Amino acid sequence: LEQELRQSQKMEAVGQLTGGIAHDFNNLLTVIIGNLEMLEGKLDGSEPQRTLLNEAMETAQLGAQLTERLLAFGRRQPLVPRVVDVGTMINDLSGLFRRTLGETIQVRTKVADHILKTQVDPSQLQNALLNLAINARDAMPNGGTLTFEVANAELDMDYARSHSEVRAGRYVSITVTDTGGGMSREVQERAFEPFFTTKPVGSGTGLGLSMVYGFVKQSGGHVQLYSEPEHGTSVRLYLPPAPDEPAALEAPSGTSAAAFP
Ligand code: ADP
Repeated sequence: LEQELRQSQKMEAVGQLTGGIAHDFNNLLTVIIGNLEMLEGKLDGSEPQRTLLNEAMETAQLGAQLTERLLAFGRRQPLVPRVVDVGTMINDLSGLFRRTLGETIQVRTKVADHILKTQVDPSQLQNALLNLAINARDAMPNGGTLTFEVANAELDMDYARSHSEVRAGRYVSITVTDTGGGMSREVQERAFEPFFTTKPVGSGTGLGLSMVYGFVKQSGGHVQLYSEPEHGTSVRLYLPPAPDEPAALEAPSGTSAAAFP
């Protein structure tokens, strides 16, 4: 509980901080990039300085992309929830995932029958799934399998009592599992923290999982993480059923929280 509180306070502070700084920083980068472009125009093609200049320009552009992501994070776009059929969405996205992940990674989708519709912001859900897919790719540099599993799931009272802000009841779960390097206990504990990353500068921002977490929480859902070093990682999103789903009436087969290791 304490950890989750700390987490949301941190998200709040980071949102305010980044919104303010990223904007000004982006202005500075615009000046730097502009000047570098002017310098480039003054060199002829053969000069060795060109390599240095190009490198500086590429790095400044990486910086600009980073601030763009920070701005988006600080802005925290308002959610526009819609009724979403997650199974259809996953199947529609599988082509994009295959292209993003490259040939060494197999993408599998398993969608159970009679999935409840959920109500979330579809574009932010897509972003969240893409973030998870990219993390999985980074965890499987030598290839592997990425599985998207969609099911109806339930979080029971006991579970809700021991997790703050979690409501017991029915959910639609999306479980994203990779066969990558997994995370140590220390990394698991900090994985959802904004800016926590184990990746080299330029390739990771440490915002992916905290954005996933923020989106799911804001949508009234819940996130679970299960990871084992050398074996792989599962992230399970619990999304609330759309209001007009007969969520409490039927009990189609699905997974329960307890079934998740
Ligand atoms: P980033 O990917 O930019 O580092 P994230 O917030 O998405 O930021 O992830 C934080 C850290 O959690 C990563 O740096 C990595 O150490 C760990 N992590 C996230 N997803 C996975 C995964 N699928 N397998 C192994 N480690 C992961």
